[in-house]
Amino acid sequence: MGWSLACGSGGAKLAGLAALAAALLGCVGSAAQREADADLPDAAAPRVRVRILALNDFQGTLDPPTGSQATLYGPPTGGVSYLATHLAAARQAQPNTVVVSAGDLFGASASLSRIFHDEPTVEAMALVGLDLAGLGNHEFDRGLPELRRLAQGGCDLADGCQDGTGYQGASFSFLSTNVWDPARGQTLFAPYAVRSFDGVRVAFLATAPPWTPTIVGTADLGGLEFRDDVTSINATVTELRAQGIEAFVVLAHMGGSGGGGPDECPAPSAELATFLTGLDPAVDIVLGGHSHEAYSCRMGALVATSAGSRGQLFTDLGLTLDRASGDVVQVTVANRLVTRDVPPAAAVEALLARYRDLSTPLLRGVVGRITASLTREPSPGGDCNLGSVVADGMLAATRGAGAEVAIIHKASLRSDLSYLRNGAEIEDGQLTLLETMTVLPFEDSLITLDLSGDELVATLDQQGYSVAGLEYTWDAALPAGARIELESFLIGGVPVVLARRYRVTVNDYLLRGEGYAAFVAGRHAEVGVGDAEAFVSYLGAHSPVTPPPPRITRRK
Ligand SMILES: [Zn+2]
Repeated sequence: MGWSLACGSGGAKLAGLAALAAALLGCVGSAAQREADADLPDAAAPRVRVRILALNDFQGTLDPPTGSQATLYGPPTGGVSYLATHLAAARQAQPNTVVVSAGDLFGASASLSRIFHDEPTVEAMALVGLDLAGLGNHEFDRGLPELRRLAQGGCDLADGCQDGTGYQGASFSFLSTNVWDPARGQTLFAPYAVRSFDGVRVAFLATAPPWTPTIVGTADLGGLEFRDDVTSINATVTELRAQGIEAFVVLAHMGGSGGGGPDECPAPSAELATFLTGLDPAVDIVLGGHSHEAYSCRMGALVATSAGSRGQLFTDLGLTLDRASGDVVQVTVANRLVTRDVPPAAAVEALLARYRDLSTPLLRGVVGRITASLTREPSPGGDCNLGSVVADGMLAATRGAGAEVAIIHKASLRSDLSYLRNGAEIEDGQLTLLETMTVLPFEDSLITLDLSGDELVATLDQQGYSVAGLEYTWDAALPAGARIELESFLIGGVPVVLARRYRVTVNDYLLRGEGYAAFVAGRHAEVGVGDAEAFVSYLGAHSPVTPPPPRITRRK
């Protein structure tokens, strides 16, 4: 069965799984589509237009990403102030606009959001104009009571509302089609939202990953049931069709990739294809997330997209609805860059400035202790004690995802942690939040993936890494690619098995960089918390931290 080309407007919805799979294909944008009735006045027009602007995996990225993440597909991108400007312009051009988020809006957030318990992100999204938010896995990271608080308002029990202005909760609505609260006998949030445009109704559904409880660690989920996403969607679609609704938009957080550029879908991953082929053919649009991929797929009349992560892209969908049938008859799609060549939205900038000022004293807080300096000074083997502790933190933070090994490249480590304080207000060995975050300023996400023993050895032969969960000796006199002494390569104290798969945690810098092919090819990737967050947590839990001895030894 091959992929066929069928870009353009959706006609009759295909029936049958085989037909749907056969029609999976990739298209780049589709702005060139024309319609005969484009200029008819709205009231008389047989068709109604609606614009949907979609985000996913924003993860509290309020400030523009920096370092290797600052640019995407060329220009500098991201920053919620710029996002607000881009979305406002799009909304102005089409009053029938809905702004949606397909999960992981916050959780494993960038520091400015995280240190204020993600209240700044929820408040910023009110200014951005977010209407509807699905739930990913990260919304549950700190448990159900905290998610409810962020949705409904009220101050953190331990820290209060640190900005002194209270916290009103979300201006937008969360949806949870498949998350069931047995205590209340209903879904956690509304299972769907219906919006009416010139009399034509569009239903929005949203599913969290069914496996969420397996990766949120010890967070209190209050007995929530995460039901199968596809089954829940189909049941809800059936219910709504009985009410005469024919247009369906699903905010999913199911992972997967399109295998190409942001407006392409040349090789949809199995998990994406499986999810899509399981859906009721009445579903028109699926807005995906979790994988941090950007793609735009069409499967018959079904459109499935995702917009990367961290607010660097948004998906701009133009829907044409038929007034008589109530169905979606055409969809245009483009993933658009959140460039910084527009003015930042003033109201959002004011909000961020207030939180940045308030963050200064918090960043001076002590988060842990060391018994000697942790530095980037390489050992003879090439690792460094700072990198080893960072890797220990990465491993500790991702044991729940099955991690056995963690690897950090020296390029991610941007400053040392000095033991001596030289008369500063804090004692020798104490570490402030600011100092520890400066070590990993880019706040990359941790990714746990499968690598074979072979791939692991070949990767580490390239040097420049610090490690946790493994140790080895290499011989500089041997040729590149064969320098590691295999008998010395121990994982968890046991000799490596080259054909075995290991769960390896890296930060996503390694997945973006050149020359890290093994990581890019890594399988079963799971996105975890940020590297800086893992490091701060580890220091807090293991203080005082003593610099560990080298784990990589050089023979000559
Ligand atoms: Zn996710």
